[in-house]
Amino acid sequence: MAVETKTTCPYCGVGCGVIARVDDDGAVSVKGDPDHPANLGRLCSKGSALAETIDLDGRLLHPEIDGRRAGWDEALDRVVQRFSAVITEHGPDAVAFYVSGQLLTEDYYVANKLMKGFIGSANIDTNSRLCMSSSVAGHRRAFGSDTVPGCYEDLELADLVVLTGSNLAWCHPVLYQRLAAAKAARPGMKVVVIDPRRTMTADIADLHLAIRPDGDVALFNGLLAHLAKTTAIDENYLAAHTEGFGEAFAAASGMSFPELMDRTGLGASELRQFFGLFERTEKTVTCYSQGVNQSSSGTDKVNAILNCHLATGRIGRPGMGPFSLTGQPNAMGGREVGGLANMLAAHMAIENAEDRDRVQRFWGSPTIADRPGLKAVDLFEAVAEGSIKALWIMATNPVVSMPDADAVEAAIKACPFVVVSDVLKTTDTARHAHVLLPSLGWGEKDGTVTNSERRISRQRSVLPAPGEARADWWQLSEVARRMDFSGFDYRSPAEVFDEHAALSAFENDGSRDFDIGDYAGLDREIYETLAPFQWPAPLNGSKAPASNPPLGGTKPDSARRFFANGGFYHPGGRARFVAVTPAETDRTNAEYPFTLNTGRIRDQWHTMTRTGKSARLSSHIAEPYAELHPRDAIDIGVGNAGLIEIASPHGKAIVRALITQRQARGNIFVPMHWNDQFAAKARVDALVPPLTDKFSGQPASKNVAVSARPFLAS
Ligand code: SF4
Repeated sequence: MAVETKTTCPYCGVGCGVIARVDDDGAVSVKGDPDHPANLGRLCSKGSALAETIDLDGRLLHPEIDGRRAGWDEALDRVVQRFSAVITEHGPDAVAFYVSGQLLTEDYYVANKLMKGFIGSANIDTNSRLCMSSSVAGHRRAFGSDTVPGCYEDLELADLVVLTGSNLAWCHPVLYQRLAAAKAARPGMKVVVIDPRRTMTADIADLHLAIRPDGDVALFNGLLAHLAKTTAIDENYLAAHTEGFGEAFAAASGMSFPELMDRTGLGASELRQFFGLFERTEKTVTCYSQGVNQSSSGTDKVNAILNCHLATGRIGRPGMGPFSLTGQPNAMGGREVGGLANMLAAHMAIENAEDRDRVQRFWGSPTIADRPGLKAVDLFEAVAEGSIKALWIMATNPVVSMPDADAVEAAIKACPFVVVSDVLKTTDTARHAHVLLPSLGWGEKDGTVTNSERRISRQRSVLPAPGEARADWWQLSEVARRMDFSGFDYRSPAEVFDEHAALSAFENDGSRDFDIGDYAGLDREIYETLAPFQWPAPLNGSKAPASNPPLGGTKPDSARRFFANGGFYHPGGRARFVAVTPAETDRTNAEYPFTLNTGRIRDQWHTMTRTGKSARLSSHIAEPYAELHPRDAIDIGVGNAGLIEIASPHGKAIVRALITQRQARGNIFVPMHWNDQFAAKARVDALVPPLTDKFSGQPASKNVAVSARPFLAS
């Protein structure tokens, strides 16, 4: 008899519910879960094609050591022996984990516990560093915690939705569908899209602002200065719940209007139209994503946006608030368990001695990392320099996705000991591993993920584990046990989740926002039937699954949004305005006169290790390409679909030209997905320099000076 299982899509941060059906003959099909509050039955092209990506072609089915098949015992012993030897000889900071927003929260929890509490280093970072770490840093500066104040429903309730640095239509498609449906139902609703490109998202925009790359701080500073002259400022909210407005206003008002036009590249009427809309519309949501985060000024951009919402008191109320959209399915879950080099666990701070003591006592661990570890870009530079001598990479492909990808590949190749846990043995990174450990893929994994609106959902297994593949949390626990560490005797992901929930509540007097403590102590059966819920999430005294928040979003608003009545997490409970000033944004010069912007396309995910298997998905856009303006195409002498070589001081890519008016002059967009196996030279991240935001460590992947010329095969 066919079996249907409720699970979660493994791609973007929307976190859609999926019903996976396995027929008697083993055929798998998927449909959207009508009861899941994130998508209410919808799926995008990628989610709909999940069943086409789960074959065993290229699967890593058993452990390997130096290219030969090995048993689990031998492989795990090798990992323990090499990591232990490096730690003994060079200290704990000579090893590192590089993990992923693809990991489930339970995997992330165990990885973070092992590295920070038992190995004693904070050298665990994640590809989520490339995704949303500027938002984390901005939240912490403004709110005193990494808290997303609102929820998806706010996009439907708002009268004005501002999308900045977010191609929602392609990168968060189901959320875009919800927004488009709401706009169609309420013609008075306005959408503003701020993006150097006229993306598909701009097709529903009432106003598209083709901003200069990295012009966001100037734009939102200009907006704050404008709002300060109007009645849109919420004086009561400012006085009761915030501090630092004067300094932020002084920084924001230091720019003349002509300078604002120059820095943003926008005309006076466009600016006035946007400022007027924002001023007049109380129910305003500002969504931001990689176009804001992936910048050397990403954290300042986030704070410039937050300043405008704090100044107007438009935060944490239905249809109002700033909204950071996470790119990955479990970027938020990684934040909850501290799976970043500068975080601890349960939203506690590594720099805070009381937090460190609390976590160490809870774990009963022999040590605790007492300072932030290396963030992604620094981590791979340390590998290149030789100070990291043993590296464990889980569920990610940095040889394609990291900035300065050629240098990252060379570093991994030269690293004395590299472990890769993955589902495929064919990734660009896996081929450099000394030890390969087979992991579970989507449809086989079992655990939880958290989406952009803080909603925790179960990802459930619908298929048996192929070959000898095992869960990442199990691999990590086995290594920990073999290193003679206690506290890793988990028998199931439910036991890991239980401990994670208990830590969130451990000595939490309300000074930390993340609290799922009522979910500790759930038995296995209840974990299996757990319905999606948002944190903070009291169970109202009952631990029965029926008391989980009902599907359909009927929980009280107070439990789903933060900060309408203040209650920030800085000492004193006030939000802090952050005074920000725009940095110089133009990186071009005579040799590299174009600005490269990298990003996602609708039908592929990251480095295409899964979506690349679906012919249907590849039929949308079959090849890597460079989007450029017709005048630029004439200037460099390339025709549509002609091959074009794009180069920076760090590398080059050869892709086809796509000539379009959607692209602003001087800018080139190239998707991030393709590698050098799919095309001769298409790893666009090889061109991106290892330049990062000084607060978040997030790379600046959207403003790279490059040259462009027709490619002539020699
Ligand atoms: Fe999956 Fe995101 Fe598409 Fe939803 S919108 S189906 S989570 S890729």
